[in-house]
Amino acid sequence: MKPYDVIILGGGAAGLMCAREAAARGRKVLVLEQNPKPAPKILVSGGGRCNFTNLHATPANYVTTNPSFVPAVFSRFTPKDFIALVQSRSIPYHEKKDGQLFCDKSAKDIIELLVTRAGEKGVQILLGQKVGEITHSEDSFIIRSSEEIFSAQRLVVATGGLSWPQLGASDLGFKIANQFGLKIIKPSPALVGLAFPEREMDRFKDLAGIHLRVGVSCGDWNLVEDLMITHKGLSGPVMLNASLYWNPGQEITVNWVPEFTVESTYDQLKKDRAAGGRGKFRVWFSERIPRRLAERIAWNAEARGAWSALSDERLLALARDIHAYRFIPAGTFGYRMAEVMKGGVDTREISRETMEAKKVPGLFFIGEVLDVTGQLGGFNFQWAWASGFVAGQAV
Ligand SMILES: Cc1cc2nc3c(=O)[nH]c(=O)nc-3n(C[C@H](O)[C@H](O)[C@H](O)COP(=O)(O)OP(=O)(O)OC[C@H]3O[C@@H](n4cnc5c(N)ncnc54)[C@H](O)[C@@H]3O)c2cc1C
Repeated sequence: MKPYDVIILGGGAAGLMCAREAAARGRKVLVLEQNPKPAPKILVSGGGRCNFTNLHATPANYVTTNPSFVPAVFSRFTPKDFIALVQSRSIPYHEKKDGQLFCDKSAKDIIELLVTRAGEKGVQILLGQKVGEITHSEDSFIIRSSEEIFSAQRLVVATGGLSWPQLGASDLGFKIANQFGLKIIKPSPALVGLAFPEREMDRFKDLAGIHLRVGVSCGDWNLVEDLMITHKGLSGPVMLNASLYWNPGQEITVNWVPEFTVESTYDQLKKDRAAGGRGKFRVWFSERIPRRLAERIAWNAEARGAWSALSDERLLALARDIHAYRFIPAGTFGYRMAEVMKGGVDTREISRETMEAKKVPGLFFIGEVLDVTGQLGGFNFQWAWASGFVAGQAV
């Protein structure tokens, strides 16, 4: 059995950040990663260019059942701190939009940054080590991987979320939390498309591939961003963000022309009716949203009766429909398509100063395995860096 001061389960974003910080404080650190290469999610992130942080990130960009936890962790390692690391290695990057920072060349630059920094401080990273079982004696943790047995005084769980099982996402973090009696907030896929119920599928499925900028709201949350119609439902940045706030059974509202108001659309409809041409509305509408979608929506409306004979009431109802198309998603597209997991180990069980489980001295949780999930745009990596940094100062 090989003894270490600190063993980190998971060589992803949070685990590698934590490893370097702990080793820099003189700890003997081992990272166990099941994949043949470290940080597979970083490699596929941001379309291969890794949206590694967001200039405007604040605790308000995160969804959690315990909001007071995030600021304390977040303030100890900010986007500026990670940008300084990126600059220190002369990694070229750019802002795509809204503060989202991406590598110019490849996400591999970020992996190399993390692995090299950890290596410089003597961190050992063992790949192809699928960890299955943990036991705990008085002052140490025994870790059994598919290959070997290790022991450590401190154990950091950085095994990530359940999304993208195709990259080996596992529920080991939840098994460990359960084993030590820590509460878990029910996990679900997030930053993922929302599936149409059957009726809406028939209405929209042949429009798959259409992109447009819309307004979406879900409960109190709303955003204007790009939407994509797919053969299964609605996706694109606005829907991925909506999925973070959506709960099963809840209604989603889409405003097809967010730059106009119900009143201005209603006025336009009345003008067109007065001019006697039902075609005009289609023209107006198709100048604002893709023609095939405009025709589908306008056609549905016109099918209700002769355009010129529509009452004010019907026109107002049509304007309202255009600004508030409502549906209740049948579900999400699932973990295989989801960028992240919502929910996770309850942060009320964790110290915000150290990331250590309050009931289990020596056991730490960081990154996506916790009930803290960021919006789309580099926020999830920022959480991984910040939580990994904070644990690295304490283990
Ligand atoms: C397609 C995609 C694109 C994304 N793009 C972005 C983006 O551009 N910006 C952004 O901020 N976020 C992005 N994310 C989210 C981001 O990747 C995660 O939030 C982040 O990686 C979480 O870091 P983590 O260290 O907690 O977990 P991970 O990075 O997932 O690391 C966990 C590690 O633990 C290992 N592991 C799990 N179980 C075991 C086990 N039993 N034994 C040994 N090892 C194990 C895994 O193999 C993995 O390497 C994206 C996610 C996906 C899926």
